[in-house]
Amino acid sequence: MKRSINPFRTLADLLYPRPCAGCGRPVHGPEAALCPDCQMRVPVVSLPYCSVCGDPVAGDVPGPYVCTWCRKTAPAFAWARSAVRYAGPVRPCIRNLKYRAGFWALPEIERWLAALWPTCPDDRATADAIVPVPLHWTRRIRRTYNQATLVARILSRLSGIPVRPFWLWRLRRTGTQTHLTAAQRARNVAGVFGVPSRRAVRGRRILLVDDVMTTGATLDACARALRNAGAAAVMAVTVARG
Ligand SMILES: [Zn+2]
Ligand SMILES: [Zn+2]
Repeated sequence: MKRSINPFRTLADLLYPRPCAGCGRPVHGPEAALCPDCQMRVPVVSLPYCSVCGDPVAGDVPGPYVCTWCRKTAPAFAWARSAVRYAGPVRPCIRNLKYRAGFWALPEIERWLAALWPTCPDDRATADAIVPVPLHWTRRIRRTYNQATLVARILSRLSGIPVRPFWLWRLRRTGTQTHLTAAQRARNVAGVFGVPSRRAVRGRRILLVDDVMTTGATLDACARALRNAGAAAVMAVTVARG
């Protein structure tokens, strides 16, 4: 996608080069969070991966493959895909976006999503709406933005599918999931999400969007709430895979 170059921004970048998010060396030129070396080190998710949840698998697998988690859980989303792995120079980009309003990482994220989108299953184009995974309203106020909504807006520009941030609510706060096991995460998010208007989502095909997918428990809980409210199908895209 074409992006106009802001002359003031370009001048500012020349005068005050930003440190690369990956290695700290100065980055020259506009619209880059990572230096060319770190861009090369971005671990892109590539085949083979689980045909349902998109989790990459090491080594060779014959034909389409469904992972153990998907066979056990039967997730409520039809498929999920991630652009890059949550590793190397991707980590500081996402962490800065999430906790420190590092919006300079957005052009990098847009490049990753632009490469991912055409590789998603064909029915991606049938989605009626993009729904970002919601924050609880208290957290949303404290952080002033929802990083998943920023990602959703990028995907909306790339795909032409509108963003509907109010189709899903987070009904109660959940603590950090970082140190929880897969089973604990699933329990932690069960019943956390709700749909304010069943009429809005009934019969719709919805594309869920988040910054990082780790165990899939959050996306599964969101998809379950939307399906229970009558959504015809739920698909999911995240920037990174933990
Ligand atoms: Zn670098
Ligand atoms: Zn899977």
